[in-house]
Amino acid sequence: MPARAKQSRPAAPAQSKLEAVKERYAVAVTDEVMSLIDPGDTQDPIALQYLPDARELDVMPQERIDPIGDDAHAPVKGIVHRYPDRVLLKAVHVCAVYCRFCFRREKVGPGSEMLSAEELNKALAYIRNTPEISEVILTGGDPFILSPRRLRGIMRALEEIPHVQLIRFHTRVPIADPARVTDELAVALESEKAVYVVLHVNHARELTENVKTAARKFIRAGIALLSQSVLLKGVNNDAAVLEELFRALAAMKVKPYYLHHPDLAPGTGHFRLSIEEGQGIMRSLRGRISGHALPAYVLDIPGGFGKVPVEPGWIRKNPEGGYTVTDYRGRTHQYDCALPGKE
Ligand SMILES: *Cc1c(COP(=O)(O)O)cnc(C)c1O
Ligand code: SF4
Repeated sequence: MPARAKQSRPAAPAQSKLEAVKERYAVAVTDEVMSLIDPGDTQDPIALQYLPDARELDVMPQERIDPIGDDAHAPVKGIVHRYPDRVLLKAVHVCAVYCRFCFRREKVGPGSEMLSAEELNKALAYIRNTPEISEVILTGGDPFILSPRRLRGIMRALEEIPHVQLIRFHTRVPIADPARVTDELAVALESEKAVYVVLHVNHARELTENVKTAARKFIRAGIALLSQSVLLKGVNNDAAVLEELFRALAAMKVKPYYLHHPDLAPGTGHFRLSIEEGQGIMRSLRGRISGHALPAYVLDIPGGFGKVPVEPGWIRKNPEGGYTVTDYRGRTHQYDCALPGKE
């Protein structure tokens, strides 16, 4: 918490609750992120994402240690193989910052650090020996915590596997610590294979000049940029806030990919909102910004069943035939597919 807020709270209980949160979950905030926080704003959307909060101690019965069921699909350490053609490779468990709503908050943090050389080799061997795998997604933790030299080593190993065609990185480092995105890092990722970097960003204020410079380094190295955001109460559950974020991303040549409904991670109830609220926001964004600047609104089904779009329904089948379609302004229209041979 900013020093001012600490001093203005005389009572001990809130303070000891915060201590309990810090003992329970990893906390880290970079100077870059700290500089974005307005210490005078108790509802600051940046502070809410990164600074520990006593409400994290409130755990609901529906919340889970492993909210999206990674553990059910881990054939070897460091690999999550849920979909036939793509795997997660979790080489490191640490991050530059610890997001308070993180779906892997029980797994990430200092201490567990990274896969050993032997474990990494076993994970790579699993990919090499599984020809159905065409895409490897490095996530974690944050893969860009690794040095460019280590990343180059992993890239080289993946480049040598013929069936791996795409290499993807899920990261918050370019947002939280853009100075880590050096020319050396960008060069380490350069490849003949398709390389995607997916930035985790939730608010337009996180897109600083330093972040834009980092993004340009990836683009110059021939890397395609996507983004993923988590829909969070108090941070971005507002069409205007998300509009600004998605417009800013598109202007940086970043394609907004996913808007995640928040996962059932322990102690994250204060961030949660209903699917209907998310659908309402998506409904009002459609038509307001370019189609290519709109991410898919997705839910990761608890238990390890994968992600599915949970967009509002725009089309409904009529019992008497044909369809009722709703336009982006909420007006309804009749539609008939007019298939030849079906009168
Ligand atoms: C999210 C996720 C992926 C990637 O899914 P896409 O829809 O391709 O982005 C792959 N594997 C696992 C286990 C995941 O959780
Ligand atoms: S950077 Fe990603 S993995 Fe790390 S705490 Fe944030 S959401 Fe979790």
